[in-house]
Amino acid sequence: MVTSHEGLPRPRVTLTDAVRWATEHWGVGGDARELGSQQDRNLLLTSESGRFLLKVSNAATTRAEVEAQGIAMHAVADTGLAAPLPLACTAGGDVVEVDIEGVVHLVRLLTFVEGTPLIDAGHLSTAAIIQLGETAARVSRSLATVEHPGLDRAFQWDLRRGEEVVRTLAHHVTDPVRRADLEEAVARLSQRLLALTPRFPVQALHADLTDNNVVTHRDRAGGLVVDGIIDFGDVSLGWRVAELAVTCTAVFHHHPTDPFAVLPLIRAFHDRCPLEDAEVEALWSLIVLRGAVLVVSGGQQAAVDPTNGYAVSALEREWLTFSVPAAVDAAVATAAIRRALGLPGVPPSRPLGAGTLLAAGPTPAMVDLSSSSRSLADGCWLQDGPAEEHRVLSLAAGPAGRSVTRFGEPRLTRSRSHDRSQPRNIAMAVDVHAPGDHLVAPFEGTVSRVGDAVVLRGVTHTVVLEGLDSGVHGPIRAGERLGSISGTVRVWLTHDLDPTGTPPPFVTTVEQSGWESFLLDPAPLLGLDTTRAPDIATSGVLERRQRSYSTLQSHYYESPPRIERGWREHLVDTRGRHHLDMVNNVTVLGHGHPRIARAAADQWRMLNTNSRFNYGGVADLSERLLSTLPEPFDTVLLVNSGSEAVDLALRLTRAFTGREDVLCLTESYHGWTLASDAVSTSLSDNPAAGIRPGWVHVTTTPNTYRGPHRGAGAGAAYAAEAVAMVDGLARGGCPVGTFIAEPRQGNAGAIEVPDGYLARVYDAVRSSGGVCISDEVQVGYGRQGDVFWGYEQHPGLVPDVITVAKAMGNGHPLGAVITRREIAESLADQGTFFSSAGGSTLSCRIGVEVFDTIVEEGLQANAAAVGTHLSAALADLARRHPLVGAVHGRGLYQGVELVRDPVTLEPATEEAAALCDRMLELGVVVQPTGDRQNILKVKPPMCFTEESADYFAAVLDEVLTSGW
Ligand code: PMP
Repeated sequence: MVTSHEGLPRPRVTLTDAVRWATEHWGVGGDARELGSQQDRNLLLTSESGRFLLKVSNAATTRAEVEAQGIAMHAVADTGLAAPLPLACTAGGDVVEVDIEGVVHLVRLLTFVEGTPLIDAGHLSTAAIIQLGETAARVSRSLATVEHPGLDRAFQWDLRRGEEVVRTLAHHVTDPVRRADLEEAVARLSQRLLALTPRFPVQALHADLTDNNVVTHRDRAGGLVVDGIIDFGDVSLGWRVAELAVTCTAVFHHHPTDPFAVLPLIRAFHDRCPLEDAEVEALWSLIVLRGAVLVVSGGQQAAVDPTNGYAVSALEREWLTFSVPAAVDAAVATAAIRRALGLPGVPPSRPLGAGTLLAAGPTPAMVDLSSSSRSLADGCWLQDGPAEEHRVLSLAAGPAGRSVTRFGEPRLTRSRSHDRSQPRNIAMAVDVHAPGDHLVAPFEGTVSRVGDAVVLRGVTHTVVLEGLDSGVHGPIRAGERLGSISGTVRVWLTHDLDPTGTPPPFVTTVEQSGWESFLLDPAPLLGLDTTRAPDIATSGVLERRQRSYSTLQSHYYESPPRIERGWREHLVDTRGRHHLDMVNNVTVLGHGHPRIARAAADQWRMLNTNSRFNYGGVADLSERLLSTLPEPFDTVLLVNSGSEAVDLALRLTRAFTGREDVLCLTESYHGWTLASDAVSTSLSDNPAAGIRPGWVHVTTTPNTYRGPHRGAGAGAAYAAEAVAMVDGLARGGCPVGTFIAEPRQGNAGAIEVPDGYLARVYDAVRSSGGVCISDEVQVGYGRQGDVFWGYEQHPGLVPDVITVAKAMGNGHPLGAVITRREIAESLADQGTFFSSAGGSTLSCRIGVEVFDTIVEEGLQANAAAVGTHLSAALADLARRHPLVGAVHGRGLYQGVELVRDPVTLEPATEEAAALCDRMLELGVVVQPTGDRQNILKVKPPMCFTEESADYFAAVLDEVLTSGW
């Protein structure tokens, strides 16, 4: 048996040899194609009887090993996971000996496991990571009882020999910096493993259960499903935990900036195959060790067999497999693993029993730098976060005072917009602002330096100080002077961790779970009980909502982030993460607009009353609205919402025409009140179409993309259908009194209403004595860019009544009906109209400010310019990604329609939902709409920038490319 660590080139086999052997020994002919392997030859044979894998093992492989692999394949296949199985050959048995250049090699024909190796399957989602953990657990359990002499192998993939392998082969790593990193990491982990390894259970392992060897397919919604396991070439005895460590290494190159993305895998394994304490303690070091073995072995393989493209191309990926986990302190990673597995923390915190760090004086004022901070306004944190921290600290400290930041706080000042990853913004240190003060040693210890930081090591705890002017070195007693503060000093308090460098000042949420076992709130050193920020991110607000609030009023996402702040087109969650807001067409000016905030506060101080009083606001707002409209419009009624506006509009037109019957379109939404709901036909909002009252008549929405009539000229066919309905109703004695439609089908997904359609239907309705409502609640108010009102998109069209809401109040409840006086006054016979808060002083004030801001900030022009830019980017995606069937809309009102098939237009509903969840992970809030829930809503605040449009398009591109 070859037991050396020297690399083995792949056996020299031609495709002709392969076909010949397969025909001779198994009676299987066909075509052969080479598949990758580090040290063997794998050939895919495609024959009439199916696809097979001809495996030519390298010369060092023994018959016993091959037999053991066969037993392992059967054991795994018995668990229901597909595994290649050896086929019996004509000579009996399933292994054939062949001569290659005078050396005997073993050849087998195996069944071929169809599917895509996980490594080629694109984005590795958390769900897929969990499946990897489950799969590793199933394999581990299935092999636990397998015994065979061929399992006992002395080779480089046995992690029991990992340290020796790395030391022996490190010279193959040509970059000296990388080599030094490897050697140092292995030296560090050797220490850690020494006492643990004797306690590890040993059993049969697959030993190479990585993304290369797990075969998958995607389900209808695009989710990854593990089908089976391939490549049993490394089956051997080893530490049971090594199986898990190997599988873990598959994750890092998919998530190089998030080493803890692997935690759900470990959890999934542990849930099925509980780890012993020693295994948990060693796992991270074993992961790093396996990465190191891969790197040195890859280097060696590339040197031995430079023509092995498979091995050469893997080198950078293998480096990530090592370097990503190696960058995390093993103690910290272990603490995070323990937390993820629900195991007690290690080590337990010990009492500090120390004096204070700050010399006698005032207690420092605590400042709030979280997303709920009132000291941070108007997006200032996005300009220069650290400068803002300084400003807030100085302000809170006062002239001679002291101030301090909070421990564990997700700082808004350390997060960014347009960021694909979780912010690294959770403070693991506190900043003490005390210019001119000095610090004293809170306990006896020794003072040294780590870089620029002053480190005071005591018996149980260590304090690290950055930004302190100090000349102190060596032993120090409690109360002795440590140094002086010229402005702000950063303070870490650690226990049971000997910092080789300065601990991180900021970490991500997942990293926090590891670091918090070692980094403590320094509050007691500052004379405070706590500086810890209240954890509003995980305070169970969703559960409280579900207990106390109707589930009828649903929420976005299964596990939504908690969002309490916004700025312009960004929604900021309570962890400080910025999400690009693609859905808030209501907040037309953007979130947190200072002018509207000031106006609202000012108006509350002045007066808030109802429209029966005489004040300027009602006239101001009504005049503003009428200024946007042509002649016949001369009257405004103010209400609180779109539903109310539609409801009131329907009452007015019914009173005016004296007719009950209303014609509306399929796939529409107009509101929730009895009347507006009755004319709402959208299946997702109003699926109970069967209970529609008799006065509602529905004609097919003129969707020229996927409706019954398609393409240019289809508008006429839809119009003819609607006109026929109008005529038929008139003939049948219930003539249409009102026709209600959006000028662009908003809820249907920004679908274009074809040219001429509305004009023909309006004509028909009017000539039979009816009137027409243009519902502009969704698509009006400048959002489409080139027009202020949606109906203006249709030349010559003038509705009788307009309903508007949403954008009008920028989120303040405000709606309006705009019409002609004769129509408005028709209701007079039925009493006056009054809405307590509709048209209140506050609502009018906000309405006017919003209107003026849209004008002064040029937001309609912005919607046109940025919308055109966005349309181009989305059209480009549609060209490149078959899933994008169409891009509807214009300006900042668009819809990206996802289809499974460009011909049948089968809606990609499940894909749309999964894609939206993935977009959230990448910092974009986008949701599906339409009857088929397959169209992405693109209707961000109208202050949307080109930069944000590019971010959205880039993230969508990434998700469409790499999956979810
Ligand atoms: N009409 C249309 C076209 C709408 O899109 C909506 C709301 N989605 C409404 C009316 C109802 O508006 P509100 O939610 O303000 O009641």
